[in-house]
Amino acid sequence: MLRIAIQKSGRLFEDSVSLLRNAGIAFGSSPNRLLRTQASNFPLEIIFLRDDDIPEYVEGNVVDAGIIGENVLLEKQKTVQYVQRLGFGGCRLSIALPKGIPFTGKQSLENLRIATSYPRILESYLSANAVRAEIHEISGAVEIAPSLGLADAIFDIVGTGSTLLANGLKEVETVLESEALLVAHPQLAPEKQEILDRLLFRIQANQNAKSNRYILMNAPNHRIDQIVSIIPGMKSPTILPLATEGWSSLHSVVPETIFWEVLEQLKEAGAEGILVVPIERMIL
Ligand code: ATP
Ligand code: ZN
Repeated sequence: MLRIAIQKSGRLFEDSVSLLRNAGIAFGSSPNRLLRTQASNFPLEIIFLRDDDIPEYVEGNVVDAGIIGENVLLEKQKTVQYVQRLGFGGCRLSIALPKGIPFTGKQSLENLRIATSYPRILESYLSANAVRAEIHEISGAVEIAPSLGLADAIFDIVGTGSTLLANGLKEVETVLESEALLVAHPQLAPEKQEILDRLLFRIQANQNAKSNRYILMNAPNHRIDQIVSIIPGMKSPTILPLATEGWSSLHSVVPETIFWEVLEQLKEAGAEGILVVPIERMIL
């Protein structure tokens, strides 16, 4: 049995639950009442915790694995193994100043009082850049600190930036780009490691599927060489003869990030009847 901690409620909750469900793991979730639940079809126990507690629980082996924002993980400075970036919970940790205060570079931060709930990450950023500033640790509502006269600047999580704007602040330095991570205890027992590997295999199959498209097209045979040179598939494309003499059907997998460019080039090279199909699961 592998024990995994996910956030009880908040910004990571829904995506963490979906991640496990999309990996085919069935479990009941009413985490506001239940703090733990067991999957019915996979050797996994799910524990619902406050996100801030997860790094410590993983390090202390109270749980074997966890899903946690990189921002929290770095701040807590716990020793855990990074298993996989998960592609959700994206945000950044940035320094912001009141709009009227000029910023001409890192030296503009010199001697400022900076309010934050991430003192350790801020501390290492300041010392790496040889900036002397005063760190003022507060646990929440950081963005109102300057207008209250508590601080000159803030260092905080930015999602869209609208909270900063609403508080008369401007983002001047991005220190960390964060996303949710799957982490685990550094030394798992072999049977637990095996379950983690199975879980990871499923997560990766979903991630690969999401970042690729399956494409099918028809082309005259004399255009095939040119078309094949355009398609950056996993392996060379599948080529099947069509019933119409002199024509073939080509199938391949194309990364999501470039498939529009590839489509344009394929059309230009004489491909017709191009179909783009989502992939359900993909094992490399
Ligand atoms: P908890 O009650 O579990 O302590 P919390 O209030 O600390 O919850 P949330 O606001 O739910 O935390 O955010 C959890 C994580 O979601 C953050 O640590 C961060 O990694 C990520 N995140 C993504 N986008 C944002 C955002 N716009 N603002 C804050 N956090 C975000
Ligand atoms: Zn928290």
